[in-house]
Amino acid sequence: MALSVFVSMAAWAEAAKASLRGKLRPGDAPVLLFEGKEIALGGDKATMGVLGDARLKEADFEVRGEPAGDGKFQVDPIHTRSMFVHKQGKRLMISYWCEVCSIRTYSPGVCMCCQDETALDLKERFDE
Ligand SMILES: [Zn+2]
Repeated sequence: MALSVFVSMAAWAEAAKASLRGKLRPGDAPVLLFEGKEIALGGDKATMGVLGDARLKEADFEVRGEPAGDGKFQVDPIHTRSMFVHKQGKRLMISYWCEVCSIRTYSPGVCMCCQDETALDLKERFDE
């Protein structure tokens, strides 16, 4: 049992990473419209937070991760920055920003400091 888990983990680590780009339909069960198909997206809690953000509705959206079979796709963990919005020829990373506290987060919600709602902030890079 332990051995088979080890082997599948190793295979997982070596699997070529896939990338999907399509239109995002955010929600509790987010879907990416890819080549006319609806692909159900899964991921960790913070990733699902981003994928549930109504502000990203109909975004030209790219996810990296791997196919999880049967019209499903598992997005890589949030810290690998595997979600992008394509806008005006640019590939932008997704973050959330509190203007008041200058705090950046990677999942929507309230600011950890002032408890205000954070603003969606799409950036080519994170400099600050
Ligand atoms: Zn704040």
